[in-house]
Amino acid sequence: MAMSRRAFLHAAGVGAAAVACTHGAGPGHLALPPAAPVAGPDWSRLRSRLSGSLVLPGDAGYDAARLSFNRLFDGRRPAGVVRCVRPEDVQLAVEVAATARLPIAARSGGHSFAGYSTPDQGLVVDLAKMAGVDVRPDGTAVVGAGTRLIDLYTALAAAGRCLPAGTCPTVGIAGLTLGGGLGVLSRKLGLTCDRLLSATVVTADATLRTASTAAEPDLFWALRGGGGGNLGIVTSFEFSTELAPDLAVFSLGFPGGSVTSVLGGWQEWIQAAPDELWSNCTVSAGRPPTCRVGGCFMGSVLALQPLLGELPRFSGTRPVRRFLQGMSCADAMRYFAHCSRRSVSQCHLESDPGGLLARESFVASSRVMAGPIADPGRVASLLDRPAGVDALFDGLGGAVNRVAVDATAFPHRTAMATVQVYAAADEAHRQHAAQVVAEVTTGLGELVGTGAYVNYIDPGLPDWARAYYGPNLGRLCEVAHRYDPDGVFSFPQGLTRA
Ligand SMILES: Cc1cc2nc3c(=O)[nH]c(=O)nc-3n(C[C@H](O)[C@H](O)[C@H](O)COP(=O)(O)OP(=O)(O)OC[C@H]3O[C@@H](n4cnc5c(N)ncnc54)[C@H](O)[C@@H]3O)c2cc1C
Repeated sequence: MAMSRRAFLHAAGVGAAAVACTHGAGPGHLALPPAAPVAGPDWSRLRSRLSGSLVLPGDAGYDAARLSFNRLFDGRRPAGVVRCVRPEDVQLAVEVAATARLPIAARSGGHSFAGYSTPDQGLVVDLAKMAGVDVRPDGTAVVGAGTRLIDLYTALAAAGRCLPAGTCPTVGIAGLTLGGGLGVLSRKLGLTCDRLLSATVVTADATLRTASTAAEPDLFWALRGGGGGNLGIVTSFEFSTELAPDLAVFSLGFPGGSVTSVLGGWQEWIQAAPDELWSNCTVSAGRPPTCRVGGCFMGSVLALQPLLGELPRFSGTRPVRRFLQGMSCADAMRYFAHCSRRSVSQCHLESDPGGLLARESFVASSRVMAGPIADPGRVASLLDRPAGVDALFDGLGGAVNRVAVDATAFPHRTAMATVQVYAAADEAHRQHAAQVVAEVTTGLGELVGTGAYVNYIDPGLPDWARAYYGPNLGRLCEVAHRYDPDGVFSFPQGLTRA
C-alpha cells in the first residue's frame, strides 16, 4: 500500500535525507512515494481549528484577500487564503497542504516579482496579521513575519534604532530578509539577513523550529539568502539593530547624453567612497538615455559635500540638478520610499504621502555586477531605446563584502553593485515589457556577469538557480531537500526544483 504523504513526511523526518543538488530527478534526488489518490483539503476542519480565518473562493472578501502587490497577478485564483494570527495557524495550513498535495506559499508583503506568494489554485499563508515589532532594552528586536518595512522603520525609530533594510515601504520583512535584503545602509551595516540572530520557522513536517547559529545551524545558514518560499514558513525574526543615525540624502540629475561619463565615473567613485556613503545610478531609457545619481550618507550634509564634489572628478560631468538635505533616519526612509516609486524622475520630498502604499504593475529582473563595466558606453547603447525601462545600479561593497561568500547563503559577497531592470507595464503591454526587460538584462549580463539577486526573482531568467546562488547552490539544495524532502514548498524557482 502506498504510504500517505503525511506518513512519509514523518518517516523521512528532518535530517533523514541529505541529498546532493541535482537538476531534475537524477541520481541522488529523493524519490517521491508513488502518487496515492488524495482527498481534497478538509476546509471545514481547517477553519474550525484556526485562530485566524480561512477565505475561500465565493467567500466575502476573497477578491481582496487574493491580491498581491503587482497588479499583473490579479488574475491568480488561489484555492484558499489562510489569514494566520499565530504560528499554530501556519502549522495547520502546512499540514493541510502537505496532506492534500496542494501548492502552498507564504505571503508577507506580497511583493514577489513573479507573484510566487500567490499560487494559482494553491494555498496562500497570509502573515499580514502576524506583524509587530518588539525592541528590547539590549537593542535586539523581534519582528513578526508579516511586518512591512514602513511599520518596521516607524517602530524602530520610536526606540531610536534602525536596521539596514529595503526602500519600498510595503515590502515585507520576511521576503526581504530571506533573500538577503539590500538597502541604503547596507554598505555600512550589511544586509538585513546579516543582522538576523534567529528565526522561528514552520518546516514541511509542520513542526515549529527555532533556527540560529546554535540551533538548526544549516537551516539558519540557508535562511540568510536562500530566498523566500524555500525551506519553510518563517513566523518571526530576531534582529540585532543599531542606533539610528542622522543621514544626509542627495539626488543629482545630469544632462542628456551623459550616461557614459556619469555611469563610468559613478562606478569608480562608489568604489573609492567610505562605507558611510551609499549611492545608486539610475539609467532611464530614452533617445538619448538619461541618468541620475542618488543616495545617502551616514553623517552631516557638511561632511557629504566634499564627497559629492569628487564625483565630477571621476565622471567629468557636472550635475544640472541637485537636491541635498539632512534628515533623521526615519525621515530618510520615508524619502527613499518615495524615491522607490519614482525611479524615472528626480526624487524630491513630497508633503503628500498619497500613493506611497499603492500597488504597482511591472516586469523586472536583475544582474549582479562583479566589477566595474569596462565600457559604460555599451550601457548607454543598450538603453538607447524608447522610454519605459530603467536600469538601477545600486552600490554594494563595504560591510556586505566583508562577509565570506559561504558564511550565509547570500552569495554575492564580492559584488560591487546590483542592477535592477524595471519596466512599468499594464496587462496589455506585459509581453512587450517582458521582452524589453529580458533584452536589457541579457545585454547587461554580457557586461557585468550572469549573477542575479533572488529578491528580484525573474521567472524567465535562464540558469536561474546558479544565477541566484552561485557557489552556495549545492549546499542550499542539500539543506532544502533535507528539510523539505517531499517538495511541500515547491514552486517554479524553488530550491527543491533547482
Ligand atoms: C517596489 C519594490 C521595491 C523593492 N525594494 C527592495 C529593496 O530596496 N531592497 C531589496 O533587497 N529588495 C527590494 N525589493 C524586492 C523584495 O525584497 C522582494 O520582492 C521580496 O521577496 C518581497 O518580500 P515580501 O514579503 O514583500 O513578498 P512576498 O511576495 O510575500 O514573498 C516573497 C517570497 O517569499 C516567500 N515568503 C513570504 N513570506 C515568507 C515567510 N514568512 N517565510 C518564508 N517565505 C516567505 C513568498 O512565498 C515568496 O516566494 C523590492 C520589491 C519591490 C516590488
